[in-house]
Amino acid sequence: MSAMFDLLKKIYPLRLAPVSEDTDKAAEILCGVLPFQIHEYASGLEHNGWTVPQKWKAVRAEIKKNGKTIYDGMKHPLGVIGYSTSFTGKVSLDELKKHLFYHPVFPEALVYHCDYYYKPWRRDWGMSIPHQLYKELDRGEYEVILETVAEPGTMKVLDYFLEGETKETILFNAHDCHAGQANDDVSGIVVTVEIMKRLAQRKKRKYSYRAIIAPEHLGTVFYLANLPEKVVKTFRGGMFLEMLGHQNRFALQKSFTGESLIDKAAKVYLTRNFSDIHEADFRKVVGNDETVWEAPGFEIPFISLSRAHPMYPEYHSSLDDERIIFEDKLEEAAQTVLGMLDILETDTTLKRHFKGLVALSNPKYDLYISTADPSIRPTVAEDQKKWNYLMDCLCRYFDEKTTLLDIAIKHEIDYAKLYQYVKKYEEKGLVSFVEKG
Ligand SMILES: [Zn+2]
Repeated sequence: MSAMFDLLKKIYPLRLAPVSEDTDKAAEILCGVLPFQIHEYASGLEHNGWTVPQKWKAVRAEIKKNGKTIYDGMKHPLGVIGYSTSFTGKVSLDELKKHLFYHPVFPEALVYHCDYYYKPWRRDWGMSIPHQLYKELDRGEYEVILETVAEPGTMKVLDYFLEGETKETILFNAHDCHAGQANDDVSGIVVTVEIMKRLAQRKKRKYSYRAIIAPEHLGTVFYLANLPEKVVKTFRGGMFLEMLGHQNRFALQKSFTGESLIDKAAKVYLTRNFSDIHEADFRKVVGNDETVWEAPGFEIPFISLSRAHPMYPEYHSSLDDERIIFEDKLEEAAQTVLGMLDILETDTTLKRHFKGLVALSNPKYDLYISTADPSIRPTVAEDQKKWNYLMDCLCRYFDEKTTLLDIAIKHEIDYAKLYQYVKKYEEKGLVSFVEKG
């Protein structure tokens, strides 16, 4: 079994919430895999109208009729609505139904409900039950015994920093607050951890990298609000990683401007390596913490990589478990992100050391990519045409301004091939790569 899948199986069954015993347990497990630094924010802290929630857990959740337990909400982490208050008493069917939530499509599934995480001013009790059971409830009196505990605690934000040659930092973010769900977003957590492990093994890193694992919105709001301005200034961009384990194509969600370096690298890598991807503007695929990173005053370009289009049917339900997760999909996601990072790591401008037109086909240079003679073979492959045209233009880009990524986008050619090709110009002494930092 892959390390990613193994880690996923340990974390997703936990009773995760913004602040809970099990979320602390998840933090412990993750710290055993990567030496995360943990930032703590006390329950009750406020910022811009957001409040750090209490440490919460459910201890008993039964619905009884005629003395017989018809539902035990403790059997699955989604059985009790997160941050539900306690309630014990007798209720009518109509009253009971006001506090029950069910999945609209799957009769046997439990639906995920997280509204109370963010609205501490809305205090109510609630349980999630299978729709088939909901439909079978008949008239009469029900007894509810729902015991939950809310007490002061601390919200944990996990932060792993990997220093590179420059302080300019690329961020990764995934959330750890969805109880009992694997793809949303323990898949994003394990892919993030794997990427950081592999980056840590690299001998050379131009960029610094930082992984933030935290409760959705709340974690990043308080993390950023408490971060020194000089650290924030090093953030070049980031990506939210989510829903990466199921069978579907990749969905790339652009940053707010859609024009950042990280947008370009992601798009170039994905479009060259996958024939079918979904691409959409900021917040048009799936909503996560990109609104926090991109918020005014921070404006950190934040893309999202997921497989969330179309949305998988098990989303926000108890059916989002390990059965829908594929190890090869997690691996593909990790490799894809690392492929995007390879572009960022090698992207550069070029300094020219010659003047005038160079005879590329002279064996002294051997830089001419021969295309088929149209008189012999009238059809020239599309890609070959692009490379032929590139040879006409390339030397003008050795201007210390145009980047390799800009060239790959403009000429719709593979970045890695372009890099190798320009490397030959460097070997012949025609250009030098402008190292920054
Ligand atoms: Zn979610």
